[in-house]
Amino acid sequence: ATVPLRGPIAPPATIGMLGGGQLGKYALMAANAMGYRTLVLDPDPSAPSGVVANDHLVAAYDDPASLRRLTIDCDVITTEFENPPAAALATLAGSTQVAPRPSSVGIAQDRVAEKEFLLDNGFPVGRHVVLDDAIPIADDVLDEVADGGAIVKTARLGYDGKGQRRVTGRAEALAAWAELGGVVCVVEELLDLRCEVSVLVARTSDGRVDTWPVAENVHVDGILDVSIVPARIDPVLADRAVGLAMALADALDYVGVLAVEMFVVGDESGADTILVNEIAPRPHNSGHWTLDVSVTSQFEQQIRAVCGLGLGDSSMTAPAAAMVNVLGDMWFDEPSDIAVEPDWAVVLDEPAATLHLYGKTEPRRARKMGHITVSAPTPDLAARKALALRTAAA
Ligand code: ADP
Ligand code: MG
Repeated sequence: ATVPLRGPIAPPATIGMLGGGQLGKYALMAANAMGYRTLVLDPDPSAPSGVVANDHLVAAYDDPASLRRLTIDCDVITTEFENPPAAALATLAGSTQVAPRPSSVGIAQDRVAEKEFLLDNGFPVGRHVVLDDAIPIADDVLDEVADGGAIVKTARLGYDGKGQRRVTGRAEALAAWAELGGVVCVVEELLDLRCEVSVLVARTSDGRVDTWPVAENVHVDGILDVSIVPARIDPVLADRAVGLAMALADALDYVGVLAVEMFVVGDESGADTILVNEIAPRPHNSGHWTLDVSVTSQFEQQIRAVCGLGLGDSSMTAPAAAMVNVLGDMWFDEPSDIAVEPDWAVVLDEPAATLHLYGKTEPRRARKMGHITVSAPTPDLAARKALALRTAAA
């Protein structure tokens, strides 16, 4: 049995957080600002949230003593990443409110369960096939999916393009599967993307929902590089994206902030249509702009939603915004191993820009170290300025 979700949980209640990365850090900053006490569980002693939380339990996510401590101290427990062990979540939910529900997290952390849920509930997804020892591979289906190019993705534990291989044809797909360790995988048809968008939706246990404008996302090497808001797509398509995200939050009986990543592709007649790529049961990198260009950030909204409070105003405070990620690569401008600090003063000198650095001590290539947000009169201008600032700092 799980403890039913019930608000309002008002300050000075204690909020527990599984995971101490930058997403958890910003959520806990919002919680602290509202007067909550906070407790984070993360095995990394230098996790970014450590400096913000009232207490940081440095232990594994399934450490029984730490889980007990969370249930005793916390009024509600949430998560900032999709991979807390299912058993740990179930244990916590047996004695304390856990939001989002373990069932939602379970679907989001497994691409097979996710695809099944989406299909069962009538959401549009791309052609795909599951590679799993238990199921004999239907040759024609795999050929159909893989012949024109495909991506083999591990069902679990992938992020930022990790655990993925691009292939063409059945033989390459099977070789990639073996290379990925023969774990359960999903093979997805390689889609010709017009663009990628995401919608963040906040939902409370009594069914209140709110969203922000659609973000247009550019990925480089499988990692988010730029988010531009509002997305430069047909308003009808944008409405459809928002509608899909809200319907998805309802279908999951979701509590918290949910990110829905979507692909814009051409349909048979050549018109733009939307497919759901994947969901994240947490605030999302493509919503970082809300820290600076929305009345209520995705992180404050996460706290409000999991505490069963009224949702904050999600209006933008400027006509447009763009966010560019700052990866560890920026510290290495030559092919040397010596990290050089970028010139942040050029970013901080620009009044329309905000610099966020997460406090990670070790810059590594492809590691998310921070981001820059710019507000502007149009999405084009915001994107151009944000990219120029990052280039100038490097
Ligand atoms: P992750 O969990 O790493 O974010 P995604 O499934 O979102 O995994 O894939 C990362 C990126 O790879 C996507 O944002 C998109 O740019 C690209 N991608 C993923 N699947 C497809 C696909 N079926 N067709 C084309 N591009 C894809
Ligand atoms: Mg993704």
